[in-house]
Amino acid sequence: MGEESWSSSKPFLPHQRSSNSCSSWRFILVIASMFLGAAFLLALYFSSSSSATLLPHPVVILVSSDGFRFGYQHKAPTPNIHRLIHGGTEALTGLIPVFPTLTFPNHYSIVTGLYPPHHGIINNFFYDPITGDKFTMASHHPKWWLGHPLWETVAANNLTAATYFWPGSEVHKGPWACPKAFCQPYNSSVPFQDRVDTVLSYFDLPTDQVPSFITLYFEDPDHQGHLVGPDDSLITDAVSRIDAILGRLILGLEQRGVFHEVHLIFVGDHGMVGTCDKKLIFLDDLAPWLDIPEDWVHYYTPILAIRPPPSVDPAHVVAKMNQGLDSGKVENGGKLRVFLKQDLPERLHYSDSDRIPPIIGLVDEGYKVEPTRTGNNECGGAHGYDNAFFSMRTIFIGHGPRFAKGRKIPSFENVQIYNLVTSILNIQAAPNNGSASFPDSVLLPSS
Ligand SMILES: [Zn+2]
Repeated sequence: MGEESWSSSKPFLPHQRSSNSCSSWRFILVIASMFLGAAFLLALYFSSSSSATLLPHPVVILVSSDGFRFGYQHKAPTPNIHRLIHGGTEALTGLIPVFPTLTFPNHYSIVTGLYPPHHGIINNFFYDPITGDKFTMASHHPKWWLGHPLWETVAANNLTAATYFWPGSEVHKGPWACPKAFCQPYNSSVPFQDRVDTVLSYFDLPTDQVPSFITLYFEDPDHQGHLVGPDDSLITDAVSRIDAILGRLILGLEQRGVFHEVHLIFVGDHGMVGTCDKKLIFLDDLAPWLDIPEDWVHYYTPILAIRPPPSVDPAHVVAKMNQGLDSGKVENGGKLRVFLKQDLPERLHYSDSDRIPPIIGLVDEGYKVEPTRTGNNECGGAHGYDNAFFSMRTIFIGHGPRFAKGRKIPSFENVQIYNLVTSILNIQAAPNNGSASFPDSVLLPSS
């Protein structure tokens, strides 16, 4: 714009005449065009700086699409997701979930920057080994939820957070008391557009009351992925709906003049893989080596978790189970490997909590563990597997002033997102498992 305004002054220069009688007019025109040009540039400067101050503080909207496997963005026309990709920074080969690649452990790792043994949500359900209490996805007692999730960190820094659903967001912790105006109790029947419209309404508040950090959660396309696996047309429709709902969010922010000021981070919690073709392992096939009573098994699949009674040595259980699995006499036995939790590969970060049962079994991609043969139809989708499997990867896009346009970055683990958000908000982070230097490698400097 500035260059155009300067070049447009050229026709006023009287270079085609050489008469001295015109020199004073020439001088006046040159001065006038310089003055107009300068005024134009000043106007541009003030108009751009005034739009940059619509919001008095940085804002992050963290959006999660459950079970959005990396690559789904190419399964259907997704103009809004691609608008974010082209205008922002994308993890080129996807976001790496934490192990186990399940919904609650991963959502809580995203907002705490901690691996599951450190934030306490080691599975979607589990037992407290001391009290015997059971954790379920409806448990809101703060004793379960360790670490400092972003809404708590934001509140501790005297800023406002708002949660439109996120695992753990209803838990009262530290300065966070799930305030009625800014914390929605989970209700899966709330239409997606209502969730977006409520978040947009926060931007109609006086600007100093706009929350600094907002979460937004959608159950799709996880739901469809479980039903039919990741390659069915039902997924394509669900991906299109997620794209449309992102479009509604983008449009609403544009209408309020803040789309380019807000940091929009779009993530999923894990991927999805098909489980068809009878990829099953039955624990009662191991009976010739060891009887495994059902009450020892806290979780079957895809992460097998076993806590035998204190009278039974876990190392003995592991040895007997692996002996049976390696015998060649157990159907798909080679697809399950059982470990004492302290012997699991270190990269899984899955031993340092007494909530994790002492025996953990890992299955190959797409396989499932069941107590016994049922003859049920076993065709669908699942997640929870080793996070090294590419099918478990999900999406990361960051869009907004601190994210370079069109930039591609290598895949990274979702525990890095906590530091990314605290850096954008310029607030004090709680100790976490993310790298302190990660935000500098991803974010543009703040202006
Ligand atoms: Zn999930």
